[in-house]
Amino acid sequence: MSAHAPSVLFVDHAGVLGGAELSLLDLARAFGERAEVLLLSDGPFRALLEARGIPVSVEPLGALRRVKKETRLPSPAAFTDAFRLARRVATHARRRALIYANSQKAFVVSAGAGVLVHRPVVWHLRDILAPPHFSASNVRAAVTLANLRAARVIANSRATAAAFTAAGGRASLVRIVHNGIDPLPFDAVRDEDAAAARLSLGIPKDAFVVSLFGRFHPWKGQQVLLQALAALPAVHALFVGAPLFGEEAFESALHAQARKLGVGDRAHFLGFRLDVPELMRASDVVAHASVYPEPFGRVIVEGMLARRPVIATRDGGVGEIITDGETGVLVPPNDAEALAKTIAM
Ligand code: UDP
Repeated sequence: MSAHAPSVLFVDHAGVLGGAELSLLDLARAFGERAEVLLLSDGPFRALLEARGIPVSVEPLGALRRVKKETRLPSPAAFTDAFRLARRVATHARRRALIYANSQKAFVVSAGAGVLVHRPVVWHLRDILAPPHFSASNVRAAVTLANLRAARVIANSRATAAAFTAAGGRASLVRIVHNGIDPLPFDAVRDEDAAAARLSLGIPKDAFVVSLFGRFHPWKGQQVLLQALAALPAVHALFVGAPLFGEEAFESALHAQARKLGVGDRAHFLGFRLDVPELMRASDVVAHASVYPEPFGRVIVEGMLARRPVIATRDGGVGEIITDGETGVLVPPNDAEALAKTIAM
């Protein structure tokens, strides 16, 4: 980090370990003593930041928690809490030169704080701002606020940037920065670590293993891989991840689907794991199956860093990571048959 790097207040609405939070962890570490993180929810992300020596505090979201990406009109209580949080963010920001918002909710309150303490606000946009991910009114509000108050919008892919400008976002604000992912944890995995990880799962030694990493959500496509598995008699699949934002019913539905398809003994639900590099290296193929356009897809880069063939759905930022047929294979979204055929290739 350059000696001239500004001192930054990083703001994130989540306390869970999603891709946005894991990216922020790397970024905040790179800023060293110039970084301070403010979370708007408590959770394992706080513990991970603390373990890395990054100063972190939590200001709970309150009624703003109930505002979802698809929400059309937030409640009056949500507006009250947005003002309360903007004042809290402002208090922290007084000690810093810049406010960096890692999510849309974080940007809304940071934009308010920026006005209060006259600090520039950078929004790291990690979402494709378009239906079906976001309601139209939500997109309009976020883009209008960005045009008025963001000093810069960092987009994590060309696809993310394109959705922002298509929704009326000012192109001059945007800088595209693809996520950088540290290769060291992947390079550090020895063959015996991968073998031990596989053994611990109780999978037959010579079985072919495909794995899907990601939080449980219908748009991440776990259901599509399950369907594909039904057409691949000897293949085992690892589902690595958990519902992070209240999708427990979806997780139960996946278990029921596995039983119904008769693949329960070959579908392994491992929950949220911190040993992703080992589990990727224990797999024969890493699959990504998102049914809506993926803004970036860290798991795709990670599969490549683990030196495993990666199959991914072709929309969103994925085509900026994989050259089809050269550095991976792209399949159409929500197409279990195409996915099964590609896994069997
Ligand atoms: N991940 C993890 N443990 C799990 C499942 C996923 O650490 O059990 C990590 C995964 O390695 C990746 C991130 O969560 O770094 C997911 O990021 P991605 O960009 O693929 O998806 P997002 O969560 O941002 O939609």
